[in-house]
Amino acid sequence: MREATVYIHFPWCLEKCPYCDFVSYKAERPAIPSEAYADAVIAEFDARAATIGEGLDERRFISIFVGGGTPSLWAIESLGRVLNRLRERLTFVADAEVTVECNPSSLTEDHARALRSIGVNRLSVGVQSLDDNELRFLGRLHDAQGAIDALDAARAAGFSRLSGDLIYALPSQAHDASLPMAGRLLDLGLTHLSAYQLTIEPGTRFGELAKRGRLPLADEGASADAFLALDAFVESRGLRHYEVSNFAVPGQESRHNVGYWRGLEYLALGCGAYGYWRMEAQGNPSHGLRYRNEVIAEKYMHSARTMVPGVPFIDDDSARTTTVSVEALDGETLVKERIMLGLRLADGFDVTAAAQDLCVPIVTRERERAVAKMVSRGRLVEEDSRWRVPKDKWLLVDGTAAELF
Ligand code: SF4
Repeated sequence: MREATVYIHFPWCLEKCPYCDFVSYKAERPAIPSEAYADAVIAEFDARAATIGEGLDERRFISIFVGGGTPSLWAIESLGRVLNRLRERLTFVADAEVTVECNPSSLTEDHARALRSIGVNRLSVGVQSLDDNELRFLGRLHDAQGAIDALDAARAAGFSRLSGDLIYALPSQAHDASLPMAGRLLDLGLTHLSAYQLTIEPGTRFGELAKRGRLPLADEGASADAFLALDAFVESRGLRHYEVSNFAVPGQESRHNVGYWRGLEYLALGCGAYGYWRMEAQGNPSHGLRYRNEVIAEKYMHSARTMVPGVPFIDDDSARTTTVSVEALDGETLVKERIMLGLRLADGFDVTAAAQDLCVPIVTRERERAVAKMVSRGRLVEEDSRWRVPKDKWLLVDGTAAELF
């Protein structure tokens, strides 16, 4: 049986952060339609299950990830119904990982206990910083103490698998400014840390300010110094830097995200969600497809509730499905994606495993030449049947992957 994962997107937040380009809408708590959204996600799931048919029984699901938006705003009973429906229909491994993203402003001990009661066993908390000025700059609703309280609450509720997000390389931030914050988070019991550089995306408030030259930006050198300082510090605390942006106590890696980087299928549900599924079991000539759901929450809920069970991923009659786009992925496209994602891992890209899984040749003559060139420049290591980017060249990983396309 092939391994697969499930992603569920929850699209509401109490505020829209100025750097955020995720599908998320500002809403007051009482206005969030938790019940109706759960009905829509369950209807979408039932319709997609009918489309995939027996193929669904040939998968062993290793994880569910509820992301957003702010899923800690989803009423427990509603989220519980969704998780139960998935458990009724899908085959999960015994220790399947069930993660919910939470914001400190909506994570209390009672809420964390309630999440545990519906089978959630891992929390990912959007800390972002432990400096009040930085949190204000990032437009976050919590302060440093709020983040600490939320992590304490999660621990008190019994969560031993806890992840936190940090944003570093903020304008005028010293290159080692995030180290004491990372240290404090580890003292609070975090077993996993995701550390991202602040990126300025078009269409966001920060994007607009940057376009008008009104947002100071960290320069590349400072960002690289911050990356290397964080790497050395967090590893010295016993966590492994297992992916470019992620650290974990050994054994506490995010199985869900490792699934993305290894090229596992992910059945995606919810407003604006992207999914990836292999369709050869249904005689589809392409190796896989990527689909995207409707991004406007109200339209998504309407179309999901009226979605026709068994309807193809994309249908001529758009009223029959909540999918708004589908991209066919042939074998070579999947190889490129696997290289790009696999090289982000400390363990690298398993060439033999990918070739066996995708049934396409990976080591072509051109690629062999490109690998030799990257190896000679110290940007790639070839060992056993793996290609791996040495850590001191991780900041060049996208360019290295592109060379192998
Ligand atoms: S809380 Fe997260 S998803 Fe919501 S607006 Fe902020 S960054 Fe985006």
